[in-house]
Parts: sequence; structure tokens; C-alpha cells
Amino acid sequence: MEELFKISGPTVTLLIRYFLIAGIPFLILYMLWPTKFSKNKIQERLAQNKDFMREFAHSIKTNLILGGIIAVIVFTPLRAYTQIYLDAAAYPSWWMPVSVLLAVLVHDTYFYWMHRTLHHPALYKATHLMHHKSTNPTPLASFSFNAIESVTESLIFPIVVLLIPMHPIALVSFGVLSTIVNVYGHLGFEVAPKWLRHSFLFEIVNTSVHHNLHHEKFNGNYGYYFRIWDRLMGTENPDYVRQYDVIQEQRFGSGVELKIAEECKM
Ligand SMILES: [Zn+2]
Ligand SMILES: [Zn+2]
Repeated sequence: MEELFKISGPTVTLLIRYFLIAGIPFLILYMLWPTKFSKNKIQERLAQNKDFMREFAHSIKTNLILGGIIAVIVFTPLRAYTQIYLDAAAYPSWWMPVSVLLAVLVHDTYFYWMHRTLHHPALYKATHLMHHKSTNPTPLASFSFNAIESVTESLIFPIVVLLIPMHPIALVSFGVLSTIVNVYGHLGFEVAPKWLRHSFLFEIVNTSVHHNLHHEKFNGNYGYYFRIWDRLMGTENPDYVRQYDVIQEQRFGSGVELKIAEECKM
């Protein structure tokens, strides 16, 4: 019994993470006060109940697969091949936040190339199509992958713990951070502060509009945390910044000037 409790620990933790980080924004934005945030809405049309159900079911499955993979690595002799350490004093105190940052950089690179690979016509149908059934994603879609992609997405865990010495606190922090960014990308609503647009951060980090465009247009904008790989490889949607400006103008400006400018262009 105790053994079962231990082995199911990662899966239970992942499910709680999903229910809280994806579930709370979903309840607020889609169930309780959908009209209150209409200015933040990225696409005008509404996702349907059948989308919510599909996204939820596949996200639960992905978390079960990821939980299983983590359990196999952490609770079997495979653990010896990882760089996970339990004694916090084994590394200097600054290492923990640095290890989380390194994990984010490794994840961003792995995700960009894995994601681009799954968009190859020879692989797309068998792998990534399920995620793209959400053309107007909601937070529930953040882990909505078919079984094969659930595995390719989950491989980030063994990659990170093989490459980087990580304390469990750093691993949990990385897991929470990556899920917040993931849910933000699938929010369907832009919540970035006004100041972001004119800061250096805007040049490098992704926004909800960035990943939403990927779901709407099916290609371009493959990145997870950052725009860097997309910009380097020329895969960023050329309309991204304009679309971002339209939504932020809708939120913070009168909106009139932009709409007139749009109509003039037509
Ligand atoms: Zn994709
Ligand atoms: Zn997505």
C-alpha cells in the first residue's frame, strides 16, 4: 500500500497541478465571467463544450503518461543515471534557481525542434493532429495530446534530469513554471501587461497571442517560452506583432484608430 502511494505520487501531483493551473483560469474565463474579459479575447468565436471535453480527457491522459514516466525514472534503478540530488547543501544556494533557468532553456529548445518535427506531413496525422483539433484553444488544451505526442512531450523530464543536476524543489518549480507558461499560451485571452510591448522582454518572450496564432493558422510560431528560435529560423508568423497590437489596443486604447487603420488597408 505504501509502495503504491509512493509510485502514484508524481501522477497525483501532476493532476493537482493541472486542476489548479489550468482549471482555475478555465473556470474564471470560460464558466464564471466569460463576458467580463471580452476585450482580452483573442479569437471572437467561442470554443464548444465538445472541445472542452476532448481537451480535458486528453490532458488527463497526458498527465497519467508523464506521471508514469517520472515514476519509472525516479523509483527504479534508472534513477542512478539521473543527476537528481536530495541534499540541498550539495550545491551552492544560487544553483537551484540557475538549474530551473537552464531547464527552461533546454525545454524551449527541445520543444521547438520536437514541435517542428511533428508538423512534418509524414508525422503530423499520427502525432500532433490531436493538439490542433483545438483551433481556438482553452487552458484545458494545455496537455491535449494523443498518446504518441504525450510520450514525446514527456521526454523533457528524462532529458532535463540526465543533463542538469536538479533538486526536487527545482524540479517542482520547473514543472509549475512550465505549466503556467503552457496554460498562458492556451488561454484564448491576452493578459500581458501594457508595458511589455515596449520592453526588451517583448522581443524574446512568447505571449498568448503568439501561440494562439499557431493554433489558428497551423504553422509558424513553434516556440514555447521564447520567440528566439522562431525568429532565428524564420518561422515566426509575420502578422504576429500586428495581431498582438490589435488586441492590446482593444484592451488599453480606444480601439478606434486601429480599426480605422485596418479598414483603410482593406
Ligand atoms: Zn503545432
Ligand atoms: Zn498548443
